[in-house]
Amino acid sequence: MTTRSDIAELIFPDTKETIADLEKKFPARKNPICSRFAPSPTGFLHIGWVYASFIEWKFAKQHDGTFFLRIEDTDQKREVEWAVDLIIDGLRFFGIQIDEGPVGENNTDVGNYGPYTQSQRKNIYQIFVKHLLQKWLAYPCWMSEAELETIREQQTKTKVTPGIYGNYSVRRNKTPDEIAAQIQANPNFVIRFRSPADLTKRMTFEDVIKGKIEMIDNYNDIVLIKSDGLPTYHLAHIADDHLMRVSHVIRGEERLTSVPLHIQLFNAFALPVPQYCHPASLLKFDEDGNKRKLSKRKDPEADIAYFFEHGYAPQGIIEYLINLADPRFEDWQKANPDKSYLDFDIVLENMSKSGALFDLVKLQSVNNGYLSRISTQQLYNESLTRAQKYKPATAGRPDLATLMLSDPAYTQSALNIERHTPKDPKRFSTYADIESQLRFFYDSEWEEMNGKLKMEDWWLQYDKEIMKKFVAEYVSVLNLEMPVEERFTQLKEIGKKYGFASNNAEFKEWWYIWKIGDLAMFLRIQLCCATQTPDLYSVMQVMGKERVSKRLQA
Ligand code: GLU
Repeated sequence: MTTRSDIAELIFPDTKETIADLEKKFPARKNPICSRFAPSPTGFLHIGWVYASFIEWKFAKQHDGTFFLRIEDTDQKREVEWAVDLIIDGLRFFGIQIDEGPVGENNTDVGNYGPYTQSQRKNIYQIFVKHLLQKWLAYPCWMSEAELETIREQQTKTKVTPGIYGNYSVRRNKTPDEIAAQIQANPNFVIRFRSPADLTKRMTFEDVIKGKIEMIDNYNDIVLIKSDGLPTYHLAHIADDHLMRVSHVIRGEERLTSVPLHIQLFNAFALPVPQYCHPASLLKFDEDGNKRKLSKRKDPEADIAYFFEHGYAPQGIIEYLINLADPRFEDWQKANPDKSYLDFDIVLENMSKSGALFDLVKLQSVNNGYLSRISTQQLYNESLTRAQKYKPATAGRPDLATLMLSDPAYTQSALNIERHTPKDPKRFSTYADIESQLRFFYDSEWEEMNGKLKMEDWWLQYDKEIMKKFVAEYVSVLNLEMPVEERFTQLKEIGKKYGFASNNAEFKEWWYIWKIGDLAMFLRIQLCCATQTPDLYSVMQVMGKERVSKRLQA
């Protein structure tokens, strides 16, 4: 007569190690706080993943614990080869440091709890599932797709809760003899969990973020090992998070409904259940004003590539995400303007419990706040790095990085205009704004733009001879060291002589043809080839007398 243990032996004759052996190899960590990021490599880095992984990392760091990366590639249909690098580079871009994972050269593992890629852990999952087979808590199942489909149809038709459970699982109650015979006849099967619950049972658990949750318990005999020998996500989660000694499973809210099953599985193995923490999903308003989850298919901003292309600073994004995670952050930041966001402690219990609204306008303002706050040297370094990596087509003109490097000191002075002053115009919402506000400072670019400008009408309204004379006089007395007020008075005085009224009253009453504002615009366009620029006097100061004179006289 075949015993239950014989079935386990028959299926996994070569698996000799036990879970206890594995536990010796991967002992409890000295500091028990450990979290992980466990993405599937699909070739796409969702902003929600950055949100979750930042919290996972930050939480571990706050407790001097470990944060590791595990690649969940057991669904090989979905796998993309370069996706692992995309994930690692993505996390690094946001300053998230990975302690352990496939982060060595050529994705070799770093850390003592590997392999960190699930497809390399097949033997471990077999040890786990063999254990459940021995305990009769799992069983092989030969149901074909067609059979499963028939059951689904029948359940829909009779309005019965769908799933493979109870009598719907035809192999659940077979004897060891019957199973042994079938294994000999057909080695192609999956292994299912024998769920201890039925449709009526409810369960409760404590989510660190969401608090106490009550749900219907799992009643499904879910698949643990697929017919290709690889585990499903559920079995892998138990084996990996136990052996990798994860204390806090911080993961997307969409996994919340799997908790009853996962707790059943931990119990089946008689293993401790980790702390579950499910941060709320990132939401947005759709066209009809309803909140919905940020969607990979519908929303370009779901992909972090979007933020890179649009010139957002990684720190700006992270600050915004912290805002979403814990609304206390905004006040903390105001009270601690000199501290880094890394000094703010995220308290999981305080995190928002329902969906966090991801709003691009608010993100831009946070990003703008970040770019206004950092030192000009840092702004220069960060925007240069960005310009070196991201080069939009410039139609034959040098790219921004080349221009910035052509004169770093001049570039920094140009960036620095009115920064950190009460007048701070918050010039840059994103790195992308820097390009249009810097390009005209460089002479080669100004010449090119000015050449094109001359074709346009704006300056035809002025009498060329009068403007030439004005420029000659203005340039001859130009003194950039003079205080701004005096320079403005001087401009008004000279302007008057050439027909520019100093104010509206003069303009109405006297012979003036133009106003001082027109003159300022004339200077602005002549110097910058743009109607909107930072403060004109500061621009002149940065450009220096020689350059200003040359541009005005051109
Ligand atoms: N690979 C799973 C996913 O991408 C991970 C879920 C988890 O963190 O446990 O959804």
